[in-house]
Amino acid sequence: MAINRIQFQKGLSFHAFQAAYGTEEQCLEAMVKAKWPDGFHCPRCGGGEAYFVTQRRLFQCKACRHQTSVMVGTVCESSHLSLRTWFEAMYRLSQGKHSISALELKRCLGVRYPTAYYLKQKILCATAASESGRTLHNRVEIDDAYAGGATHDGKRGRGAPGKQPFLVAVETAMENHRKVLYAVLKVLPNFKRETIVAWAEQTVAPEAHVVSDGLASFGGVTDMGASHEPIKSEGGWRGSKMEAFQAVNTVISNLKGNILGVCRWCSARHLPRYLAEFQFRFNNRFDLKTIFPALLVAVVRTAPHPVTCLVAEACG
Ligand SMILES: [Zn+2]
Repeated sequence: MAINRIQFQKGLSFHAFQAAYGTEEQCLEAMVKAKWPDGFHCPRCGGGEAYFVTQRRLFQCKACRHQTSVMVGTVCESSHLSLRTWFEAMYRLSQGKHSISALELKRCLGVRYPTAYYLKQKILCATAASESGRTLHNRVEIDDAYAGGATHDGKRGRGAPGKQPFLVAVETAMENHRKVLYAVLKVLPNFKRETIVAWAEQTVAPEAHVVSDGLASFGGVTDMGASHEPIKSEGGWRGSKMEAFQAVNTVISNLKGNILGVCRWCSARHLPRYLAEFQFRFNNRFDLKTIFPALLVAVVRTAPHPVTCLVAEACG
């Protein structure tokens, strides 16, 4: 059997992670580099030089004397956890083939369950922010999918009650459909034509070629210039084996295995964040060693998400 180079590549081992980020000082240094790649930038006056107040681990602007921490303005703001704890959580959430549950994170980090839960949700918000502007090019397979709701009501797929619809789009090379590139997974209120038109404007490049089953509203992707190839799906298991939809069906199947295997159940409120996490890991899978630095950059660039926000609503 041929070895899949992406699946079998060498990742960042826990040993290597510990060597690079095992102390609070190493984590601080890495976070400062991620937050201020061109040097310190005072959030109050824009000054470019600061003293480091060692005892309080704060940076004091040389121009206006304003004190700030590396966590201010990031998704870590107001956290009482050590940077090492944040870093290990990011490592655990980014290096596995699947996500890990808040319960498993609690055990790994030695923190209380609510702490692990909100830590995970905040990191997922960073993955969502990082992936929010992604556009798909080349050939794009799209399909509708559903999560949640009653599982034994006898109705599946389109029109099933209580289920949260989302759209899965997977980019492949134009000539070689087996060369899978990137994916975008997005919760939508419905699959009406106007919804598809708005989604395509945000997600699909005008020169892309979109392949879908026969659902008429998918034709809305042509409004912004993309070409569209509807292929009548055979339905059932035969439909899931069709060559034209192999990439999108594989992604949906892996996603379902991930959500069911890790979370057992995913509420509609949290679904956008779980989809974003899956999407972030999928789109950064080509080089496992760069996922962690990419997630660190996402975390420092994402605005604070207070717990009240996480409880009240899902993040884009
Ligand atoms: Zn200043």
